[in-house]
Amino acid sequence: MALSETVLAAVAVSSKKTELRELQVPEIPADAGLLQVEVVGVCGTDVANYAHIQEPRILGHHVIGFVDKIGREAARRWGVKEGDRVAMEEYIPCGQCGECRRGRYRACRFTDSHLGGLRYGNTPLHVPPALWGGFAQYMYLHPNAVLHSMPLHVLPVEAALTLPLANGFEWMAIECGVSFGQTVVVQGPGQQGLACVLAAKALGARVIVAGRETSRRRLELAKAIGADEVVNVSRENLIERVSQLTSGRLADVVIDVTSSGAGPVLQSIEAVKRGGVVALAAYKHQTIADFDIDRIVAKSLSVRGLRGHSHRSVEMAVNCIASGVFPMHVLNSHNYSLHQTDAALRTAGGEGESNPLLVAVSPFENRNGPSEFAKRESTNVYRKE
Ligand SMILES: [Zn+2]
Ligand SMILES: [Zn+2]
Repeated sequence: MALSETVLAAVAVSSKKTELRELQVPEIPADAGLLQVEVVGVCGTDVANYAHIQEPRILGHHVIGFVDKIGREAARRWGVKEGDRVAMEEYIPCGQCGECRRGRYRACRFTDSHLGGLRYGNTPLHVPPALWGGFAQYMYLHPNAVLHSMPLHVLPVEAALTLPLANGFEWMAIECGVSFGQTVVVQGPGQQGLACVLAAKALGARVIVAGRETSRRRLELAKAIGADEVVNVSRENLIERVSQLTSGRLADVVIDVTSSGAGPVLQSIEAVKRGGVVALAAYKHQTIADFDIDRIVAKSLSVRGLRGHSHRSVEMAVNCIASGVFPMHVLNSHNYSLHQTDAALRTAGGEGESNPLLVAVSPFENRNGPSEFAKRESTNVYRKE
């Protein structure tokens, strides 16, 4: 790409309002780079942020792309070169603090946008060089960006599930210690819940997925990707079903990724065995009145609040996707172009087209011609087999 060119970006300018803008291509220093965005998966966090935009910014942080430009120093540090395909993490950690040194860089305060830190998909446009989000043709690769190689044979819409699946592996494998033969209950069959199903299945667990009548289609998808049992909680009693399915032993691990309601939290505590693990991985924005805390003591439960992923779990996710073991593409429900970013965010938030799951935006995709990816594909020997 020649200098002085501009980049097309879908800028969230205020709450639920997007403008397509042309932004300047930045100078790339020796320790940084520029990514050509191939596909971006819309995250629930993007939807939540889109409703409360105070300063204009480019959203989108489940980003897959090709290294378009790279400084000499960055190429040496990251081990990638121009043309390489990568999956991005949203974090831009400092690399120096205690959390970073311990490998928990998702907790680094310099990557917390609420504390003024840098993070992909949630950094204001006024912070140079503005290209901090995936809903754009190009994204700036900061010296502290975290990149993972993404094999070329992986379908874009499957690659776009890297971060949700990384959360699945982080929470199931690393945080909850799910292992072969255990029973896991996943409450909430959305994008994140189904990613937990995939991770738990990859670990050899038996998986029961719970969802309401309104999620019937998603429950069917859960089956399609390997869930052993699904429970429609609008019609069936979850505790009774789990007890039945486990001959009264109950689940080893129950994870709640439903976004609303205290009910699933209380059900999680009842559906798990004595000494089991209850994982809470979605904000409820409400309190639970008259909660009997003694249930946790009496059942000797571990209750864990979980957020985000680590370098290791992203690698697990990339390997799982690249293995082709699961038909992950069935989770892709809607695909939009950059011009349709607003529609993508609305659909993912339940205000647009029906039955959203993985909603993806492809900045170079348009209905009038082949995508950049398709062009690259035709010259890619690995895809020709
Ligand atoms: Zn996300
Ligand atoms: Zn740090």
